[in-house]
Amino acid sequence: MSITVPLTNLKAQYLQLKEELDHAVNDVIQKTSFVGGTALSDFEEEFADYLGGGEVIGCGNGTDSLEIILTALEVGMGDEVIVPAMTWISTGEAVATRGAIPVFADVDADTGCLNLEDVNRKITSKTKVIIAVHLYGHTVNMPELMQIASDRDIYVMEDCAQAHGSSIAGRKVGTWGIAGSFSFFPSKNLGCFGDGGAVFTKSEALAEKIRLISRHGQKTKHVHLINGRNSRLDTLQARVLSVKLPHLEKWIDQKNQHADYYLQELAGIPDLKLPVPTREKARISWHLFVVRTSQRDELMSYLESKNIGTNIHYPTALPFQPCYKEMDHQLDQFPGAFELQNETLSIPMFAELEQEQLEYVVKHIKVFFE
Ligand SMILES: *Cc1c(COP(=O)(O)O)cnc(C)c1O
Repeated sequence: MSITVPLTNLKAQYLQLKEELDHAVNDVIQKTSFVGGTALSDFEEEFADYLGGGEVIGCGNGTDSLEIILTALEVGMGDEVIVPAMTWISTGEAVATRGAIPVFADVDADTGCLNLEDVNRKITSKTKVIIAVHLYGHTVNMPELMQIASDRDIYVMEDCAQAHGSSIAGRKVGTWGIAGSFSFFPSKNLGCFGDGGAVFTKSEALAEKIRLISRHGQKTKHVHLINGRNSRLDTLQARVLSVKLPHLEKWIDQKNQHADYYLQELAGIPDLKLPVPTREKARISWHLFVVRTSQRDELMSYLESKNIGTNIHYPTALPFQPCYKEMDHQLDQFPGAFELQNETLSIPMFAELEQEQLEYVVKHIKVFFE
C-alpha cells in the first residue's frame, strides 16, 4: 500500500463542506449579485466578531490590503517602514509601491518572526511604521513591540496573511496595531476560491478612510472625494468565507495536535531544528510547519521520492532579492533570515492530515537522518 502526503490539501477541506459551499456559490450565481451586498457586509461583521470586535473591510487580496493601510496612514516618499527580512514579498512590495523605503530587520530563526533587538537598531527619525508579520502562524512578541513603537510614536501594523486566529497574551493577531492585514488566498489558514483579503482596524476613522480608498474614493455614488482605487472582496468569496469561518477554530485545534505530534516525535534528531512556538503566551494558528537542517536539499529530494510534499518558504530572504539589490545588503546583516533561506523546509501541515500520514512523514524523516 502506498501513501502520499501532500504539503497541503485544499480538496479535503472542500469535500468536508461540499454541500454548504456548493449551495453558497450557486446561490450567488442564481441571485446574479456578484459585487458588494449583504453577503459581503455579513462576512465583514462575522470576521470582525471573530477577531474580538472592530471593523473589517474586504479587499481584493492581501497585498492590496497592506498597500491600502499604508496609503491610509499616508506613508510615502522619504518615509521608512521596518519590514522583516524573511516574509513573502508582498510586505516589502507594498512599502516600495508607496514610494517609501523598506528597512529590513532580521528575524529569529526559531519562529521566522521579527527580532525586536534588530528592530530597535533599525529605527530612525524617518521610521513611520513597523510591519509585524506573523510568519508561518507564529506570533511576533506584540506586547513588547507595541511598547517599543509607542515610546517613539511609530505606527505598528500587522501582516496576518499566515496567522488567522493566532493569538498572543490572550489577544488575536491583527488587533494589536493600528490595523491588521489578512489574505484569503486559497492555501492560507482561512482561504477563499481565488484572491481575497481584508483589513481589520478598531479605529472608525481609519476604517472609513480605508473604505474610501478601496472604493474609488466614493462614499455616495459618482462623488469621488479623494483619488482612490478599486480593491474589493467579491461576493462569491465572501460567501465562501462565511461558510468556512465557523470551522476555523476546529482546524486550528487539529493542526495544533499535528504540530504537537511532530514536535514530540522529531525531537532529538541531530541536525534537525524544530520550530519553537512561544507556547505559554501564544496560540499558534499553524500555516506552515517549518524545520531546519543543513541537509535541506537532500531531505527535500528524499521526501519527494517517498511522495511526501515539501516546499521552501522562502529560498531568498527579501534583502537579497534582485529588486532590492541597489540597497546593497550583506548576508551577515541578517543571520536569522539567512539561516532560514538556506535551511528551511516546510513539511505537510493541514487539518485533515491522518494519523497514518503523520506517522509516514515522521518515519521517513527519521530514516533519512539515520
Ligand atoms: C500571502 C501573503 C501576503 C499576500 O497575500 P495575497 O492575498 O497573495 O496578495 C502578504 N504577506 C504574507 C506574509 C503572505 O504570506
